Amino acid sequence: MEELRTLPGIGPYTAAAIASIAFGVSVAALDGNVARVLSRLHAIPGDPRKGASRASVEAAAAAFLNRRLPGDHNQALMELGALVCLPRSPRCEACPLARDCRALASGRPEAFPASRPRKPTVSVRLAAGLARRRGRVVLVEDAILVPGHLVVPLVEVATGADAGKTLSAAWPGLAGRPAARLTPAGTVRHAVLERRYSIEVFEVTEESATSRVPRRRATPGTGLRLLLHEELAREPRGGLLRKILALNAPGSDAAGSSRRGRSRRGPAPPKPPGG
Ligand code: SF4
Repeated sequence: MEELRTLPGIGPYTAAAIASIAFGVSVAALDGNVARVLSRLHAIPGDPRKGASRASVEAAAAAFLNRRLPGDHNQALMELGALVCLPRSPRCEACPLARDCRALASGRPEAFPASRPRKPTVSVRLAAGLARRRGRVVLVEDAILVPGHLVVPLVEVATGADAGKTLSAAWPGLAGRPAARLTPAGTVRHAVLERRYSIEVFEVTEESATSRVPRRRATPGTGLRLLLHEELAREPRGGLLRKILALNAPGSDAAGSSRRGRSRRGPAPPKPPGG
């Protein structure tokens, strides 16, 4: 175990799995599935990743380990957690541990382990400017949602404020010239962890194709880029940019003048890492 732990990327779970399965070392491998099985088997309260609950689960894992066949034992428990003792709908009728399972005896096996308290969601209103120059999309480095990703110019809009005016004030070179026009293109919704964004998107029409790029280029995190659609594939960009560009992509539901101002909901956001 100690030698395996010196290898890069090998944590306690992987080291225990390799040691027991490949070398027959008598050590319990405790992943999320196994922790769930043991939490239910012994009706251990609390979060099995933390504090006293974690200590109880680790003690249960060590006590339960078949020391003659630790590799088989660990693999069997992992499979049981992955295929039978499912997080929301455990298949207790097919479980070989059902007779001894205290969570099942309680009548609510899915209540174990305790679910993590959810953070309250925060609603954030944004305005976005979609401007094109000579076939390229004007992009900046995101400083609001995911720093470093490319996105169209964004600004947070206060409750009750005019989104277009806020965008013009924040990005004067982008949309603030007298002849520039902001046309509502729709609203997209996006979520990052507990933050729920509602983004009002405006298409920016400039006075001529030779308009100069915006002056606002020195602020950290807002360096301007002009990219072709095909060049975007090679750049770090988030789902929000895809949703915004899809608003007026040829053939999309939102394409054409008839969709101005229509609200669209994008695809479900990816789950946060760490699950
Ligand atoms: S009896 Fe049900 S809750 Fe208990 S370990 Fe088996 S599948 Fe999980």
